[in-house]
Amino acid sequence: MSDVPILVGIPFDGQSSYLRGAGDAPPKIREALQCDAGNNWTETGVDLSAPGAYEEGGDLSLIEEDAFQTIESQISSLIADHKKPLSLGGDHSITYPILKAFARAFRGLTIFHFDAHPDLYHEFEGNKFSHACPFARIMESGLAERLVQMGIRTMTGHQREQARKFGVEVIEMRSLPAYEKVQADGPVYVSFDMDVLDPAFAPGVSHREPGGMSVREAIAHLHAIQGPIVGADVVEYNPVRDTSGVTATVAAKIVKEILGKMITGS
Ligand code: MN
Ligand code: MN
Repeated sequence: MSDVPILVGIPFDGQSSYLRGAGDAPPKIREALQCDAGNNWTETGVDLSAPGAYEEGGDLSLIEEDAFQTIESQISSLIADHKKPLSLGGDHSITYPILKAFARAFRGLTIFHFDAHPDLYHEFEGNKFSHACPFARIMESGLAERLVQMGIRTMTGHQREQARKFGVEVIEMRSLPAYEKVQADGPVYVSFDMDVLDPAFAPGVSHREPGGMSVREAIAHLHAIQGPIVGADVVEYNPVRDTSGVTATVAAKIVKEILGKMITGS
């Protein structure tokens, strides 16, 4: 039997540098996913309401002080239990403990990272575990073989240097589309920061960065991924900033299409 995707909420925003609120995202994304305004089929023809299509894992119960250890151990047990965790953030700092769990189970991981920001700071405001740093930690610890970043439009000199040092494949927003870049030989992990989208489409994020992807461009790049997706996260949705609630619907759509890819296995 092949591994089953499981939705797991990670209500943690303790490493956000500017605004908190992302910790309240998981139930809002679930609510949008189950909303009767839409149906349960993905664009790629997968019926998410079919029995056993995916599982609902609820939210992790976290205490801020040891949140990272809990995230790592809970994700590890899901993987050991033959699940493919799709984590609902939370801020982007959670991807580091998640990847620690994945690296123990999978060799030669490729990460497809959708974001306005490279999140490669060695440290941010004196904090090495800030949501601005997870991919520096992941790459210096050798948790992934390849890191491919899509939609970047806030590169700094320091982070460009970090990207060079870690061999990160950076596809900047101005170079899209780049469907040929989302191909991997080994297992794939997708990390989707909602601020990769233009704030016109997804205003409910802490760090609004104009000039981003349309929802269609993001979905087209997700659909173009070649390689088995063993895990994913959708992070940085901030309900506090989402006055119309549209960003929750967009996050749910992204989750849906990633689930579809995880289920079809290609
Ligand atoms: Mn990010
Ligand atoms: Mn970002």
